[in-house]
Amino acid sequence: MGRKVLVLAELKDNKLRNVSFEAIAAAKTIAEDGEVVSLLLGESVESLANELIQYGADRVVVVENDKLAQYNSDGYSQAVLAVIKQEDPEAIVFGHTALGKDLSPKVASKLDSGLISDVVNVEVTGGNVVFTRPIYSGKAFEKKIVTDGLIFATVRPNNIAALEKDESRSGDVSKVDVDIKDLRTIIKEVVKKTSEGVDLSEAKVVVAGGRGLKSAENFKMLEELADVLGGAVGASRGACDAGYCDYSLQIGQTGKVVTPDLYIAIGISGAIQHLAGMSNSKVIVAINKDPEANIFKVADYGIVGDLFEVVPQLTEEFKKL
Ligand code: FAD
Repeated sequence: MGRKVLVLAELKDNKLRNVSFEAIAAAKTIAEDGEVVSLLLGESVESLANELIQYGADRVVVVENDKLAQYNSDGYSQAVLAVIKQEDPEAIVFGHTALGKDLSPKVASKLDSGLISDVVNVEVTGGNVVFTRPIYSGKAFEKKIVTDGLIFATVRPNNIAALEKDESRSGDVSKVDVDIKDLRTIIKEVVKKTSEGVDLSEAKVVVAGGRGLKSAENFKMLEELADVLGGAVGASRGACDAGYCDYSLQIGQTGKVVTPDLYIAIGISGAIQHLAGMSNSKVIVAINKDPEANIFKVADYGIVGDLFEVVPQLTEEFKKL
């Protein structure tokens, strides 16, 4: 029988973000032998539709409109609602990203539906779609099912593996016109603050620094290590508050939540609010001169030492690999 599932694709710099493919994988599980329809919104994006099919979408619906060139919740919610009306899916999946976190509750509430956010696993048991999500800042997990009405879910990046890309897959790509009106916000310009490079919330390796770095100048040493490992730089709030780096790098309860394969915490004490953003990383390495630092309680590997000695040595060793 199966279900029809709609998945919102997300773009960055006119490329599909990896979370779009992970959301398709989640949608495949929800759909069982039903249909996964990917929804692609933007100004001129149709050329990206095929990649969504290669990652497992059965079909792609494209809405192109100059009012969708930049994300704005009014325009995007109108487009998503129009496609939901047309497609009549049983479930809608978003990435648990800044965009998904803003858009999904708006769309769900317009349809009087609930929303299961920050999903890290999906399975179907006994005919029910069971969503797993972290609670209490990642200390425990709860399982949820939707008993009535539409299923809305957001999936946390880096948790549900995307399917292998299959270039032989094909599927229908159709365009839908949506009359986008009454925008209360017009985005005139986007000024990029962070440097180009690996997206922090999707990075497989995160090198994060804390107040132990002692200055903005010293903080730059993390970039070198992150570059060698093909990772992204993150930070504790302590480092952001001290002005060592931009707040866009903050990881934790009031920052970004990351779940990379490898998280290296450097000069970070491991306050509970920081752990909330990184404790579900697959492997955690902590470098701290204080053997009692809380970060060692969640670390798989700990290096007790002076970061100013350890980090340059590590960087040099990784360069040799
Ligand atoms: P510190 O606690 O000062 O730790 C610095 C560490 O560096 C120490 O463990 C020290 O031993 C080590 N160190 C110093 N020198 C060296 C050296 N040479 N070599 C090796 N190690 C060294 N924090 C977050 O990170 N993210 C959040 O989202 C967040 N949200 C918050 C929300 C609320 C409501 C509140 C109240 C707080 C929040 N905080 C958050 C702040 C949090 O409580 C901590 O204050 C903060 O995480 C501390 O940052 P830190 O570990 O870099 O600094």
